[in-house]
Amino acid sequence: MDEEKKDIFKKHGYALTGEESGVKLCHWISEKLIEGRSCYKEDFYGIDCHRCLQMSPALDVCNQNCLFCWRYQDYGERKEKDLEFDDPEEIVERSIEAQKKLVSGFRGDQRCSEDMWREAREPNQVAISLSGEPSMYPRLGELIEEYEKRGMTTFLVSNGTRPDVLEELEDLPTQLYITLAAPNEEIFKKLCVPNTASLWDRVKESLDLLPSLDTRTVVRHTLVKDWNIGWESEYADLVKRGDPDFIEAKGYVFVGDSRRRMTIDNMPSHDTIKGFAEREADLLGLETLQEKESSRVVLLGSVDSRQKIE
Ligand code: SF4
Ligand code: SF4
Repeated sequence: MDEEKKDIFKKHGYALTGEESGVKLCHWISEKLIEGRSCYKEDFYGIDCHRCLQMSPALDVCNQNCLFCWRYQDYGERKEKDLEFDDPEEIVERSIEAQKKLVSGFRGDQRCSEDMWREAREPNQVAISLSGEPSMYPRLGELIEEYEKRGMTTFLVSNGTRPDVLEELEDLPTQLYITLAAPNEEIFKKLCVPNTASLWDRVKESLDLLPSLDTRTVVRHTLVKDWNIGWESEYADLVKRGDPDFIEAKGYVFVGDSRRRMTIDNMPSHDTIKGFAEREADLLGLETLQEKESSRVVLLGSVDSRQKIE
């Protein structure tokens, strides 16, 4: 990454851990330490969100330009071969060190308990999902392995456009997300703005791959009002291909850089999300397992999938 780009990331609160990788404190850590409120993934999957490290091995690399993306988005024309990716072991060591520094400011705040603060300094969970598309990082399996060696659970969020990478992962994450933000290619092209024509087919290939991956799988719909809500039977047909353990129907949130491309009116209400989720659940024979209105998210799954989080 060039120095100018690095400065932009730093200004946005990222701690860089090499040439292409970095960490940013998730705002839910502060919510948990100060207000005692947790992110929906703590409620749904039992992680400790104050011990979650949010990072990306490919901060400035993505093959889409989703209109709803809250990250800084100016991926430019850099070719994969020109990228200087960082060593997985170094990323892991540096990211844990960076997280310790990032949480240090909470010490001494009367609202934050000393015990919680100490726990926050020892992350036990990583969300590989920050900025950029992690499957563009060529040593993703090694990265997952390095975090797991340190006793951490790993949540990987991918846009699903690199089934080849997912298929070759030597170590699978604890939980693998594929984002499915469009019911068909036409909406995918308009909303997710892929940089090559074949990406929609690759998302479908990733869905087809999910049943063969021996880990917890989630299909996430990022739902944007006036763009991609509806078409439940088309979504359901796609989801069937992946037969994921869970589906998260999650409302778009008007934050970060997405505010340059969306308006606040593109945020759907929780009732809209719920209605969509219920129609999709009916089509797939699933049930609502959990929901969190403040995060505008509904979790769907089956009786079997419920057992995976109990
Ligand atoms: S799981 Fe996601 S939302 Fe929750 S603390 Fe980690 S990065 Fe933040
Ligand atoms: S795939 Fe993810 S990182 Fe890339 S533009 Fe879309 S939301 Fe942003």
